[in-house]
Amino acid sequence: MTSEFTLIHRHFDRAARHSTLAVGDDAALMQPRAGMQLAVSTDMLVAGTHFFADADPRALGWKTLAVNVSDLAAMGAEPRWALLAISLPAADENWIAAFAGGLFECAGRYGVDLVGGDTTRGPLTMTVTIIGELPEGEAITRAGGRSGDDVWISGTPGLAALGLAALKGGASIAGEARERCLAALHRPQPRVALGIGLRGIASAMIDVSDGLLGDLGHILERSGAGARLELAALPLAALREAGADEALARRCLLAGGDDYELLFTAPPHVRDAVLALGQRLQLPLHRLGALDAERGALLLCEADGRCQPAARRGYDHFA
Ligand code: ADP
Ligand code: MG
Repeated sequence: MTSEFTLIHRHFDRAARHSTLAVGDDAALMQPRAGMQLAVSTDMLVAGTHFFADADPRALGWKTLAVNVSDLAAMGAEPRWALLAISLPAADENWIAAFAGGLFECAGRYGVDLVGGDTTRGPLTMTVTIIGELPEGEAITRAGGRSGDDVWISGTPGLAALGLAALKGGASIAGEARERCLAALHRPQPRVALGIGLRGIASAMIDVSDGLLGDLGHILERSGAGARLELAALPLAALREAGADEALARRCLLAGGDDYELLFTAPPHVRDAVLALGQRLQLPLHRLGALDAERGALLLCEADGRCQPAARRGYDHFA
């Protein structure tokens, strides 16, 4: 039987690049850079709730860290350090090695040091606490949206939900499109560079983890605003190309979770700056509508101007 300490040492103890002291002591030591503020977030993934228990461990390792990186991206922060609390049903070394491989791949990609954590036996769950930095006072919160601001989304939201629908048998997606959807679901690419680039440009921001409408609802609530989204502006092309019919494509885009794209608001006078940033990052940025509805309202509008209130269907663990 492998001991807890051997497991930690073998799989989770790797050289840290920008930490004074990392895995192995009673606490880690890190030094924020001068003038920087810390941004801290934590996210838990539970087998059966957030992923299938037989999920590929390497992809799971990537995603466990990636969803946390995404939370920092959504503040405009740069991820720097992470802690991993993991509960495992058994010391299956092949599984742990693959999981750690995926996690460190993501850590390397986004410049994150794993500086500590906790390892116990129990039902399979992973909790990451992530710590990042940003120049003091430059965080982009959910509360900064103002009446008249544009509403933007990055990338190709909805692919992850379509991938999940395909896995569950609710959508028949084949070939390369299926691979693209499953990659979006299993290996999300948090938009860190976009988040950082939007400092001083975006007024409010959130990452889409529970569905675009639900997450926009959080911005509206915190900003005391209302929004109109133009149905014609929804970036549905990738979903249609993947084989989704119109209803499924809309549902995946508006209510699907797990995309980890950035949803943000910005005043109309910075439109060119937003588009230039998208060009520089080679990331499509779509303007979906504006904060120009009554406070608390979220309207979906046809090209002829007819609008309907959107059913807010974000994911809620207790609803
Ligand atoms: P303690 O009993 O003092 O809490 P632990 O035995 O839990 O220490 O952990 C030993 C060291 O290994 C600590 O530095 C802890 O942060 C680190 N650690 C434990 N589990 C993990 C993990 N899954 N990933 C990264 N570091 C871990
Ligand atoms: Mg401990």
